[in-house]
Amino acid sequence: MAVETAVVSPGIEDPWLNAQAQFDTAADLLDLEPGIRAFLREPQRQLIVNFPVKMDDGTIRMVEGYRVQHNLIRGPSKGGIRYHQQVTLGEVKALAMWMTWKCAVAGLPFGGAKGGVVIDPKRLSQAELERLTRRYAAEISVLIGPERDIPAPDVNTTPQVMAWIMDTVSMASGYSVPAVVTGKPLSVGGSLGRNAATGRGCAVVALEACARMGRDPHGMTVAVQGFGNAGSVTAALMAADGFTLRAASDSGGAIYSEAGLDVHAVTDHKTRTGSVAAFPGSKPITNAELLEAPVDVLVPAALENQLTASNAGRVKASLILEAANGPTTPDADEILYRRGIVVVPDIVANAGGVTVSYFEWVQDLQSFFWEETEINERLRAMMIRAFNESWQRSKDLAVPLRLGAYTVAIQRVAEATLARGIYP
Ligand code: NAD
Repeated sequence: MAVETAVVSPGIEDPWLNAQAQFDTAADLLDLEPGIRAFLREPQRQLIVNFPVKMDDGTIRMVEGYRVQHNLIRGPSKGGIRYHQQVTLGEVKALAMWMTWKCAVAGLPFGGAKGGVVIDPKRLSQAELERLTRRYAAEISVLIGPERDIPAPDVNTTPQVMAWIMDTVSMASGYSVPAVVTGKPLSVGGSLGRNAATGRGCAVVALEACARMGRDPHGMTVAVQGFGNAGSVTAALMAADGFTLRAASDSGGAIYSEAGLDVHAVTDHKTRTGSVAAFPGSKPITNAELLEAPVDVLVPAALENQLTASNAGRVKASLILEAANGPTTPDADEILYRRGIVVVPDIVANAGGVTVSYFEWVQDLQSFFWEETEINERLRAMMIRAFNESWQRSKDLAVPLRLGAYTVAIQRVAEATLARGIYP
C-alpha cells in the first residue's frame, strides 16, 4: 500500500501562519475582546481522514484528507475541496479561515470551511477519481450537510466531483440532497452562472477599483498567473471591458506579448494543447517574470505565496487583483502598500464564486431556479457592495484595502458571536 503525505513548509510560507498574522493585524485595529479574539483565531473543528482507495490494478492505496470548519457562527460553513499533491492541514486551515472572512465581507449567511485531499488527480483514472471522491465524501459525511457545511469546487475539483459527492450523500440518506454541495452540474441542481462566477466577480471588482483609482480600463494591460477557471474567465471578461491581456501562465509555462494576447485564442490553444505555453506569436517567459511583467494589473489566479518579500519590490503593476486565495504574504503586502500599489484582497476579489454558490444553495433549498441574467445582476450588486464597504473602511482607517476588508468581516463575525453568547 502506498502512503502519500505532504510536507508542511514552516515559517512565513506557511499559509496558516500568514492567515493568523493577517487576522492579528485586523484584530489589533478592532480592539477585539481577548476571548472573542482567541476564539476567532482558531478553527472550530478539524477532521483528518485516512482512507483506502481501490486502484484499477487491484492494489489498495492509502490517502489522507482534511475537512476544517473554521467558524459556524453566522450559518453553516462553506468552502471548497482541493485535490493537490502538496495540500497540507495548515493550508486547509488557512483557506477555511479566509472563507469565514470572505462570506462575512460578502454578506453571506455562512461561516468558513475548506477541504483537501493529498493527491495528484491527474495521475488517477476517472474510475479511481470517482472511488476516491466517494470514499472521501463518506469519510467527511460526519460533518457536511445542507444545514451544516457545504463543500464546493476548488483547485483540481470539478462539477463532476461535486455530483459524485452529492450522489454519495444522497445514497446514504435515501433521497436526493442537492444542497449538500455547490458547483454541481446543472442536471443535478447546479446554478447557471456558477462556473464563471469567480472570474465574473473579479472583473466587476477590477472596474470598481479602476474607477476609484481614476483609471480607464481602455489602454490598461493585464497579466494573469494561472489560466484555470478563475484566471481564464477573469481574463476574458476584463478583455471584454477593454483591458488588454499581455501575459498569461499555467503550470505548463508563461507567455507574453507586447501587442496583447487574444484571450479566446489563448483559451482555445489551452483546450487543444493543455497549456497556454507555446501560444503562436507569443514570447515564452518564466513564471517569475510574469509576476514582474510591465503591466498595469496583475491577477494572481493560481496558488498561495506567489508575491513575497523577495519579489514584491519588483512588481510593476499598480493594481493587484487576488483571484487566488492567499497569493500575497504579509511581508509582501507591506512592501506593496509602501509602494502605493492597490491590492484587492482575495476575500473580496474572488468572492464571486461563493456568492453564486450561495445562490445555488438557496435555489436547491427552494427547488426553484433563477435566470442567468438575474444571477449575474445580483452577483454584480453584491460584489460592488463588498468592494465599496471595504474601500470605505480602508479610507476611514487609513489602512490597506486588505485590512479594511478584514475589519468589516471580523467585526460582523465578532458581533454575531457576542449576540449569540457563549454556550452554555
Ligand atoms: P484551476 O485548477 O482551474 O486553475 C489553476 C490554474 O493555475 C491552472 O491553470 C494551473 O495550471 C495553474 N497553476 C498551478 N501552479 C502554477 C504555477 N506555479 N504558475 C502558474 N500557474 C500555475 O483552479 P481555480 O479554481 O481557477 O483556482 C485558482 C485559485 O483561485 C485558487 O487559489 C483557488 O482557491 C481560487 N479560487 C477559485 C474559485 C473558483 O470558483 N474556482 C473561487 C475562489 C477562489
